[in-house]
Amino acid sequence: MQIARISLEAGPRYAILDHESNEYVVLAGDPIFQGLDTTGQRVPIEGTRVLSPIIPRSKVIGVGKNYMDHVKEMGGELPDAPVLFFKPNTAVIGPQDPIVAPTWAKEISWEAELAVVIGKPCRDVPVDRVDDVIYGYTAANDVTARDIQRAEPQWARAKGFDTSCPLGPVIDLDYDPTDVYVRSTVNGELKQDGRTSQMIRPVKELVSYISHAFSLLPGDVILTGTPAGVGVMTEGDTVTVEVEGLGELTNQLRSR
Ligand code: MG
Repeated sequence: MQIARISLEAGPRYAILDHESNEYVVLAGDPIFQGLDTTGQRVPIEGTRVLSPIIPRSKVIGVGKNYMDHVKEMGGELPDAPVLFFKPNTAVIGPQDPIVAPTWAKEISWEAELAVVIGKPCRDVPVDRVDDVIYGYTAANDVTARDIQRAEPQWARAKGFDTSCPLGPVIDLDYDPTDVYVRSTVNGELKQDGRTSQMIRPVKELVSYISHAFSLLPGDVILTGTPAGVGVMTEGDTVTVEVEGLGELTNQLRSR
């Protein structure tokens, strides 16, 4: 099952995608907290604006250097432990929202990633129980001000600025993340084409590791790292992240 958050006249609503009728089935509440009761309203998928499928209440946690080919292209060594960072929830945008380049950054880069949405409060989760705490999966673009990342030892500004975390378009609740493609295109040209099977630390290991540092809450999002093929965008470029089976996440770079 796939759910999206859509913009209706009454405001943002969650909805189930009905791929047979090409309609959204509107939900009564936030499905993470209130389940999948429907209102009976159906709206066509075509022409309906899709929002970020989630606004994390507490945090987005990023993982650096989780694909060896990306570690090599960045010229670094593989760290002993996963490098973690946060993006604030104010960085989150949805499909088709603009990525707004900060005035203080020169190099804005894309990073196509599989994202995990947490469904239950948890901590110290053993690897074999991680599936119990995952709500679903979506796609993310870990947009990075690369020049600032190089210049500053903490990545808060480089990876946490407003609009640096496009998410969506859907959350898939029955998804097998072990071997799916993770791609990005810029202006239609393929830039990244990796597979989650190439992760240095796979999803379950990452979520378990992270839960031993931070309590995880429903709606928290974990970005699982990016494959090789990152580069610099210029104003007006359109970037699309596609994680197999999860739709397309497209955003355009604008200047402030
Ligand atoms: Mg990343």
